[in-house]
Amino acid sequence: MANSMMGIGQIIKCPICGTKCRFSETLVLAEEKDKSILHLTCRECKTSVLIFVSAGKYGVASLKVITDLNRQEVKRLLQREAISTDQVIEVHQFLKNFKGKVRDFIKIENKNLK
Ligand SMILES: [Zn+2]
Repeated sequence: MANSMMGIGQIIKCPICGTKCRFSETLVLAEEKDKSILHLTCRECKTSVLIFVSAGKYGVASLKVITDLNRQEVKRLLQREAISTDQVIEVHQFLKNFKGKVRDFIKIENKNLK
């Protein structure tokens, strides 16, 4: 889809300062037939934005989300496996049955991270 998005280069504006950015300033993170994910760091205010673009039969739609992730961090996160429904249920069950305080839960999480 990147080729068809070359035309939106003029309309990629920084959501913070309004600077018009060129398509060539973005990094294409993921690309499929009718949707793409781009990362843009504004050259003026240095704000980073994730841009989700999808093309449908009524035109092209985009959603911009401000992020504190740099290009490398976003690339790494997108390559990770998606969270499964089973994992969500597992966390739900854990939290449902957890009898301690939030402070205790944070201690358990910190131990698991070490
Ligand atoms: Zn900006």
